[in-house]
Amino acid sequence: MTEQLAEILAIVENPESPSFSNTVEALQRAGKGLQRVRSIFYNLSASLGGEALEALEREISPKLAQHSMRIFLDPALFTRIEALYKQCGSLALEEDQARLLERIHMNLIRNGAALAPEAKARMTAISERLAVLHTEFGQNVLHDEKAWTLSLDDADLEGLPEFVRSGARQAATERGLDGYVITLSRSLIEPFLTFSARRDLRQKAYEAWIARGAHPGPHDNRVLIPEILALRSERAQLLGYANFAAFRLADSMAGSCEAAEALLAEVWEPGKAKAKAEAGRLLTVARTEGFNGQLTAWDWRYYAEKIRRADYALDESELKSYFVFDNLQQAAFDTATRLFGLTFTPLPDMPVYHPEVRAYEVKDGAGHVGIFLADPFARPDKRSGAWMSSFRDQQSMETPVSPIIVNNNNFAKSDPALLSFDDAETLFHEFGHALHGLLSNVRYPAQSGTSVRQDFVELPSQIYEHWVALPETLRTYARHYKTGEPMPEALIERLLAARNFNQGFGTVEYTAAALIDMAVHNHPAPETIDVETFEAQFLTRIGMPAEIGIRHRLAHFQHLFAGGGYAAGYYAYMWSEVLDADGFEAFAEAGDAFDPATAARLRILLSAGDTQDPMALYVAFRGRMPNTAALLRSRNLELA
Ligand SMILES: [Zn+2]
Repeated sequence: MTEQLAEILAIVENPESPSFSNTVEALQRAGKGLQRVRSIFYNLSASLGGEALEALEREISPKLAQHSMRIFLDPALFTRIEALYKQCGSLALEEDQARLLERIHMNLIRNGAALAPEAKARMTAISERLAVLHTEFGQNVLHDEKAWTLSLDDADLEGLPEFVRSGARQAATERGLDGYVITLSRSLIEPFLTFSARRDLRQKAYEAWIARGAHPGPHDNRVLIPEILALRSERAQLLGYANFAAFRLADSMAGSCEAAEALLAEVWEPGKAKAKAEAGRLLTVARTEGFNGQLTAWDWRYYAEKIRRADYALDESELKSYFVFDNLQQAAFDTATRLFGLTFTPLPDMPVYHPEVRAYEVKDGAGHVGIFLADPFARPDKRSGAWMSSFRDQQSMETPVSPIIVNNNNFAKSDPALLSFDDAETLFHEFGHALHGLLSNVRYPAQSGTSVRQDFVELPSQIYEHWVALPETLRTYARHYKTGEPMPEALIERLLAARNFNQGFGTVEYTAAALIDMAVHNHPAPETIDVETFEAQFLTRIGMPAEIGIRHRLAHFQHLFAGGGYAAGYYAYMWSEVLDADGFEAFAEAGDAFDPATAARLRILLSAGDTQDPMALYVAFRGRMPNTAALLRSRNLELA
């Protein structure tokens, strides 16, 4: 931090008048050492975790927030940037340079650089406090996930297929326990809710899952949420916006809350109608099995699986025996080879932070592209969910710097590790983000790879999911873990036909979470929110079906509160889905999922980082503006 401040001081004290080179480029060069340490630290704290790193993160996060604000709010720095920005047209800048200057200027303003001194001081205080609260929020969720396990004895295993039993055995072993243990990791809890014939245990597990972050005591996130929301709202108002959502959406592809909400509205009612029909069928099945009560959220997955089995003759445990992790990772690599000419060579001697991490050198026809790290399995101290991150971003401002990219997943470990089809899609999703980082070909670090608008960043990841669902991918890589036999053709057909299944549930579960995100972030008095009451009233108001749980309850909605990245931005998945559904059809129209010309255009989009406006990039790839027709078709939500 001291080093970076000295570099900034040298920029602002430069007696020469500001130029792009002595100010903007110098700013891009500043803070290299801090950036290196910061990315290593945050990667290890998320992937490795543990008491010591957690304590350090609590100590360091507010200091880093204060440090960043000191730079954002440096009046002399803003004066130089402002002067350049005003003469932008006469500086003879190239397109990426002009965009960099414009975005740095905007970023300073959005952090308060143009405010009066008292308001600036308040912006800094808010930023520091938010850093503390975000860290605490994430650590509280992890605490609750580690604190809860459900021990099962032989009598409790009714309905559980072998892969769930073996995952539960493995989880018990890792915790030094005997027998079987269900944890709150998505890769164990979801299969448990899908298969356990013991309704009492499903209820117990489900209630623990949705209670993460909502236990009275020192780890209660419900206390933190109103304060986080109030601080965000205050910051937005200091900057002249009505609320945080308006502030956030002003710098997005959607452009406004109204545009984001209009898209969510387009899928919400059709999604609900679809879910209602699905619930009707679940109830019919439940009745024939002698269940006479009301369907609840801990029943849905269980009966849905029975219908899936009946309608499509699909059996989750049969399917899983064809999805061996290693083969699917290879499929993700080989797809990138066919589309973009990339190759992946294992680097077994490369030092890594955990023995489960695998390192690969990525190359293309022109040589070294970067390093890819895969960290696939769940561990008790690892943050839940799946994500891509970087240890080093690509840039070429002075000498070329190649990227070091990591994918984290939380797959249940077993020997061999078997995935569900959902897991396989997640693997491809994160690998799509990884390609965005790896294929980056920009000059300036601030524009590298995934440094794009939040509602554009899910396009590379979501479009990549389409390739795992190709029959030819399944024929080659979905091979039985014992016999090595390819998945039977009829099973592939049924698996793909079943993709339309349960789309009402999926749409409702997700969209409700995106809607509540908007609602808390454009709330006029967020400090008064009582989390439980607000949530209950909101879900009633939007007509949330009682038998479907919201995908993330507020008390463990880490996208919103364990950091600011997706706050008022959870809609971005749907926004990007409009683009990925529409975009993948370009390959269909070319008559080949690996059409070289279309792939070449996609590579341009993936390599551009934030050097261009995202819609312009999309249109250059697709040849026209996107529309929602493909999304509604793929979610099976077209109105009759
Ligand atoms: Zn993603």
